[in-house]
Amino acid sequence: MTRPTVLATIVIIGALCVGIAAAQRGAGGRGGPLGGKPSVDAIEVEKLTDNLFVLRGGGGNTAAFIRSDGVLLVDTKLTGWGQPIIDKLKTLTDKPVTTIINTHTHFDHVNGNVEFPPTVEIVTHENTKKYMQEWNPVYGLQLDNPSPFKASGGRGLPTRTFSDRLSLGRGSEQVDLHYYGAAHTGGDAWVVFPTSRVMHAGDTFPNKSAPIMDKNNGGSGVAYAGTLAKAAATPGVDRVITGHSAVMAVGDLKEYSEFIRELVTAAQQAKKAGRTVDEFANTWKVPERFKGYTQPPAASLRSNAQVVWDETK
Ligand SMILES: [Zn+2]
Repeated sequence: MTRPTVLATIVIIGALCVGIAAAQRGAGGRGGPLGGKPSVDAIEVEKLTDNLFVLRGGGGNTAAFIRSDGVLLVDTKLTGWGQPIIDKLKTLTDKPVTTIINTHTHFDHVNGNVEFPPTVEIVTHENTKKYMQEWNPVYGLQLDNPSPFKASGGRGLPTRTFSDRLSLGRGSEQVDLHYYGAAHTGGDAWVVFPTSRVMHAGDTFPNKSAPIMDKNNGGSGVAYAGTLAKAAATPGVDRVITGHSAVMAVGDLKEYSEFIRELVTAAQQAKKAGRTVDEFANTWKVPERFKGYTQPPAASLRSNAQVVWDETK
């Protein structure tokens, strides 16, 4: 791709994928979700506890958990942002990255993997490993989005997987991975830091608006709310790192499951009433009780509605 095409593609990715968060945070700005040009200075650090940080900018929110033997990362952002993450970590610790967890298969959470040394352990849900190998297009996005793992000869793909639950490390350095079923994709990992009482939700909870229901990668509209409700009931969690927005309370995650239930139920009722996907997408409004929510663009509602339509008999 030519450089203007690359930039245009990045803008389109950002506009479609995280448009709402962009509007809230300032598109393309410092630390903004569109990423801009990869650089260490464009990464903003938010300290949650003495050894748990959120690194913002360049795609999805990255968590950095500093353990005695090295750094465990959750998600590695867009292409070109792996090295800036490594450089930013040097301002926090002299320990190397030893483990990467990817919450799901999408490019703005995994593409940075290929920039880390091949000795780093990469952990995902078993379905996410499959999706990263298949590299199916993200449902609802029109992207020129080549697999970074083809170019890398497979480097950056998961080296370890789990099905329902996995714990890494012990004592105060333990990290728990949970799988609660399909939602944003069919391989969404929920990553809990028990000592910090924090959970990384990835894009199952991207922001307070409509999500992507990526049926090309196992995502589901009908299962989405139930999966979120199970995650919100995870014991010992107070705060949630979202995919692209601020750190929120676990109560916000519970409310988000109710928001998704309202959206999906309304779509199912519209289908049963004989309405079309477009009619639904052009008329559905965020219910009053969801304060602070952003009205999703019609294109986003159309994608969500189509997934629900296809899943509803
Ligand atoms: Zn995603």
